[in-house]
Amino acid sequence: MKRLFGTFGVRRIVNQELTPEFASKLAVAYGNVIKGKIAVGGDPRTSTPMLKLAVEAGLLSAGCDVIDLGILPTPAVQYAVRNYYDGGVIITASHNPPDYNGIKFVDKDGIGISDEMEEEIEDIFFNDNPKRVNWQDIGDVNTNHDLVKEYRQQVIQRVDQKAIKDAKLKVIVDCGSGAAYNTTAYILRELGCEVLTLNCQPDGFFPGRDPEPIKANLKELIEVVKTTDADLGLAHDGDADRTICIDEKGNFILGDKTFALVEKHLLQENKGGLIVTTVATSSAIYDVAQENNGEVLATAVGDLLVARKLKETGGLFGGEENGGLIFPDFVYGRDAALSAAKIIEIMSLEQKPLSKLVADLPAYHSEKLKIECPDDKKNEVMQLIANEINEDPRNFELDTTDGVKIFTPDGWLIIRPSGTEPIFRCFAESKNKNKAMEMAEWGISLVGKYLK
Ligand code: MG
Repeated sequence: MKRLFGTFGVRRIVNQELTPEFASKLAVAYGNVIKGKIAVGGDPRTSTPMLKLAVEAGLLSAGCDVIDLGILPTPAVQYAVRNYYDGGVIITASHNPPDYNGIKFVDKDGIGISDEMEEEIEDIFFNDNPKRVNWQDIGDVNTNHDLVKEYRQQVIQRVDQKAIKDAKLKVIVDCGSGAAYNTTAYILRELGCEVLTLNCQPDGFFPGRDPEPIKANLKELIEVVKTTDADLGLAHDGDADRTICIDEKGNFILGDKTFALVEKHLLQENKGGLIVTTVATSSAIYDVAQENNGEVLATAVGDLLVARKLKETGGLFGGEENGGLIFPDFVYGRDAALSAAKIIEIMSLEQKPLSKLVADLPAYHSEKLKIECPDDKKNEVMQLIANEINEDPRNFELDTTDGVKIFTPDGWLIIRPSGTEPIFRCFAESKNKNKAMEMAEWGISLVGKYLK
């Protein structure tokens, strides 16, 4: 049973639970387990320098060498570790509010550390047993603030530069004051796009917008795309691992649409391949795979699980419905900059506006509802729902990889307990909008029934 780590790292309110002392002690425990040269980087939160220095002190005291990469995207740290270092620590709270921060640990492949390694670190942490080295074995500190330039060049080399240059696209980039400030706009300018920027100064107060790239937070970007006649708007989250697109008409494009679009392109380019996603992602991913000689594997919800499965299977591409796309030949984690460049490459090669490319994809309607449920009741409720579905004379197919996923002739419904809040999420998808709503409501009623 894990006591500290969530789905990927530790995330807490700064200077309440997440103090320099906590960060440093956790870093010693990590350093005891992983050893060697450790890269450290983070997002532009006000607390990041404080936590970064604490983590670095902890690592040095464990005898690790530290390479400080500065303020940069989470995937840039993952890229660096995979190519040059023995491990890495990322200081970030992704899209959370400004009073939060977090610590993510990666292994030598730049992929989030395994559950076993997390438990080992927790053991050292809670037993107050971190091993510190003698004075002569304390590690060295070096900086590599040029790494981000290399990361940008690597993204540029992975797309069709000539096609993008010829397309002369006008793109609005909204970094939400986050870690993409030194990547996306620079990459797109070098590729020959006309780039206008919004919220591209790093600022831990997030003055322009909330760092989560959901529709409600992107009104300004949508307005600017429309008033400047841009071809595309791009929005990133705080640590620059997610990309959300606004089409040339100012429409917010759901993450599973861009996922399906890039999937289609990569499957056609590679004449097929294995796609990894989660059980909560659109059936469009399966449809596109079927039409393009691809295969789909679904994991439980969580980008780390998708990344691990991609590594284990040698899969071609993966992603989630929230705009997080994983290109495993580059980074074993969601990458915002390459996602942005790939979408622009597709628009350039196809010579079509994004709205048209999206309209050509399989269309589904989805509905997401939630209902409160105490944490200690979640398992029982799930079991009772699964029992009911198994006994249902309509013979619905059932998938219990994560929560309860029910396939009906109208589409599917997944009833999942949240890992962080006392709620169940009921997420339904159908070709018919009303049916999607009906199924999501059915999910709510099933949870309600067994809660009593
Ligand atoms: Mg993120």
